[in-house]
Amino acid sequence: MKIVVLPGDGIGPETMAATTQVLQAASQRFGLGLALEHDVAGHDSLRQHGATVTPALLERVKAADGLMLGPMATYDFKDEAKGEINPSKFFRKALDLYANIRPARTWDGVPHKVGQFDLVVVRENTEGFYADRNIASGSSEMLITPDVVVSLRRITRDCCARIARSAFELAMTRGRHVSVVHKANVLKIGDGMFIEECQRVAREFPEVRVDEFIVDAMMAHVVRAPQRFDVIVTTNMFGDILSDLTAELSGSLGLGGSLNAGREHAMGQAAHGSAPDIAGQNVANPFSLILSAGQLLRWQGQRRQLPAFLDAAKAIELTAAAAVSAGEATRDVGGRLGTAETGRAFAQRLLNA
Ligand code: NAD
Repeated sequence: MKIVVLPGDGIGPETMAATTQVLQAASQRFGLGLALEHDVAGHDSLRQHGATVTPALLERVKAADGLMLGPMATYDFKDEAKGEINPSKFFRKALDLYANIRPARTWDGVPHKVGQFDLVVVRENTEGFYADRNIASGSSEMLITPDVVVSLRRITRDCCARIARSAFELAMTRGRHVSVVHKANVLKIGDGMFIEECQRVAREFPEVRVDEFIVDAMMAHVVRAPQRFDVIVTTNMFGDILSDLTAELSGSLGLGGSLNAGREHAMGQAAHGSAPDIAGQNVANPFSLILSAGQLLRWQGQRRQLPAFLDAAKAIELTAAAAVSAGEATRDVGGRLGTAETGRAFAQRLLNA
């Protein structure tokens, strides 16, 4: 099974090196037969190919069984005409990776900021307020006069329905509770439609308890009592913001796994960015990317009914918990190791478990 590996910018190469060690260990222990195909995206690709991502890379990814995308310096990429394309958006749009699944849970050994919890943010990934992906060509953010900007948000019934379905299906495998997060008090039509579709899908899942929260109040609820949530479904930008909050509440942004999944393709990607403030210092937490790799293996296991992939995904989660608890982690979560040492210890622990 082929997985394309793109290390990315900033802390990407360090955290991806740790992650590939873990994938190789998982492949060895569970007989997954993984073949990792290394390539470049982001600044490396811009230097080598004149663009942060290329059509040839997309074809390579389409032909593979999964993609691991490191964090990208997206803020640096301002002009698509100069090849500065946001790689996250490129793959999410080109591969129609509509469901961004971002789990966040507390870990033994990491001080709890707000008590124990275990939840998943299910974020719509292909439209909303994202100007570079919600129209077929160009940008939906426009400079009308030098002093006036209009940014358009796209919400479609189909995208609402499919993300709602992802959330309810996931809830059936967990605590059977979905919280719908919106801003329908202001975005009455768009978020009104989002709620409508969530309610329509909810009728197909009578076992699942459903509640609704306005996004600003949700921030308070999540900080006050995250343990009352199981699966949270929301539109693109709200999910982006909320999932950074839940990852940080779990102990560190560096613990936030993230899978971008569509019907045919999936991409594991850290929830955080390229963290230029700590790049090259061997201090970045690789767990976010490692946990995302575990999510990618689970997705393949579920889709193709491959028990070995499901076992490997479970083992990665259990190993992460054991490693954090033993202090075999980076200092942001109270550990005592550097990024490279954390990756080595993780791979070793996974092999020996
Ligand atoms: P960031 O997520 O890179 O960093 C925010 C804070 O969290 C920083 O203090 C950083 O040191 C810390 N942090 C992040 N990841 C960490 C890890 N693994 N271990 C320990 N600490 C970690 O956000 P930013 O600084 O606002 O953005 C930097 C760049 O990343 C920008 O170009 C931005 O556009 C881009 N970005 C990319 C993605 C992506 O590729 N998916 C996501 C968010 C931001």
